[in-house]
Amino acid sequence: MKDLHSINRLIEAFEELPSIGKKSATRLALSIAKDKFKALKLINAIEDVVANIKECEICGNFSEHEICDICASENRDKTLAIVENSKDIMIIEESGSYNGYYFVLTHIDDEVIQKLREIIKDKEIKEVIFAFPPSVESEARSLYIEDKLKDLNIEFTQIAQGVPTGVHFENVDVNSLAKAIKLRFKL
Ligand SMILES: [Zn+2]
Repeated sequence: MKDLHSINRLIEAFEELPSIGKKSATRLALSIAKDKFKALKLINAIEDVVANIKECEICGNFSEHEICDICASENRDKTLAIVENSKDIMIIEESGSYNGYYFVLTHIDDEVIQKLREIIKDKEIKEVIFAFPPSVESEARSLYIEDKLKDLNIEFTQIAQGVPTGVHFENVDVNSLAKAIKLRFKL
């Protein structure tokens, strides 16, 4: 489609999104080109996200405020689930199997460890749950963090293996994730 420069540009933009291949990108772009109303609705929703969504200063979850609703709540359990990304928080919240706090771990350095220590003290956390999909790297990461926090007199647990090795949360049904959290075990 040589003379359709703007549609090609849109296809390319869609292709940069996760799990969208050339075929889906083309289908989406053509559907938008066809329906201007749908297109404007999408533009509006994207602008809204760009303008209003930021990362919570405490846990790193997506939020419309400096501090997200979960971190701001005083009524959650004194547990802290360390997850890999905000999407995992959405999935766990949806499962209804957990009512503690969260922390999104994107990397590990001294600053992150310091942040975790502050959250544990501020929220009087009694248990840190490593809610990573099981893998050798996750295990190494969990052990490292545990070592850095072990003087805080808290319990460390890991979600059960109900989550199959190497499979990401989004591909795990909500029930088995709920079970994995319920059946978490001591490290
Ligand atoms: Zn937060």
